[in-house]
Amino acid sequence: AQISRATSYVRLPPLPSIKDLIRLYKLRALRQLSQNFLLDERITNKLVNQAGSIKGAEVCEVGPGPGCITRSIIRKGAEKVILIEKDLRFMPTLKLLAEAAPCEIKILHGDVMSFNMENLFSEENRRNWLEEPPNIHIIGNLPFNVSTPLIIRWLKDISYRQNAWNYGRVRLTLTFQKEFAERCVAKVESPERCRLSVMCQNWCSVSYGLTIPGAAFLPRPKVDVSVVRFTPLKYPLIPLPFELIEKVVRTVFAGKKKYCINGIGNLFPQPVREKLGEEVINLAEIKPECRPVDLTVPEIGRICYAYKEICDRNPKLYKYNHRQAKGKDADFLEDPDSEVD
Ligand code: SAM
Repeated sequence: AQISRATSYVRLPPLPSIKDLIRLYKLRALRQLSQNFLLDERITNKLVNQAGSIKGAEVCEVGPGPGCITRSIIRKGAEKVILIEKDLRFMPTLKLLAEAAPCEIKILHGDVMSFNMENLFSEENRRNWLEEPPNIHIIGNLPFNVSTPLIIRWLKDISYRQNAWNYGRVRLTLTFQKEFAERCVAKVESPERCRLSVMCQNWCSVSYGLTIPGAAFLPRPKVDVSVVRFTPLKYPLIPLPFELIEKVVRTVFAGKKKYCINGIGNLFPQPVREKLGEEVINLAEIKPECRPVDLTVPEIGRICYAYKEICDRNPKLYKYNHRQAKGKDADFLEDPDSEVD
């Protein structure tokens, strides 16, 4: 690879512009795949800069589309670029780029939602969890319609150190709708604070990067777009199983503007809801009249531990799900009478 000293960018041979490629290959954006393309390499360079140095790194780009971000990844000196794209229409443009690139490019047709990255990267880049993050990055201008399920799935993978995270604390640099990005990084008491903020911040150090104006995309989305960086934490703030934390956080934040006691009670079936809800509040030492947005992660941790303590006494309670129970609350009590007493 030819590297210019001034920029330490790798040079790519002249390629048709992304705009021309879109026209040439008739790559009309498909709404059902939430396609909005970036065309300006100055912007994609800035986006990729958000990942920090990727020189010599293995980079997996999710949803490369026509490849503008990919070009910036190559220019920044990645050693190997792995592309996961669902839409077959982009294969010719990506192949064109792979032929011109001075580094290895692997093009994979697949759905990032179910993609197994367990063996995707090289053994020499594998690191122990407590070491510095490996020289492996996941970067993507993700489809907005998969943002929530994908990030929740990846946080679960981070919590179990599986999928890409069996290589260590692999960092993510992702774009989201600005509003979604603000929720990922929202601190306690901020109006944007929600389930997503707690989940992201429990397993990752999350930081808000640059904002990209909607006008930079084709077609232009109605909202601005922001880049968020995730670095998995060595130790999660609440060291409990993902499913337990997810359930508690989802239930507590369901009534975001209501008092915590309401949401916490919904962790339990009737007729023990009130009694056990109060027990959680007491065990966790939180104020019943506080609102979910006021809760710090350690306070949420105490709620999780209190919930666990109560469910360990009566494991059937673990199965209770407020949204799905629909009048079958008694099924989740081992001995309803004794619980009420
Ligand atoms: N990265 C390109 C850019 O910035 O110009 C395209 C961004 S566009 C918002 C999202 C891309 O993700 C599209 O290329 C789309 O086909 C692809 N995509 C959508 N859903 C996907 C999925 N589940 N798995 C993999 N790729 C997907």
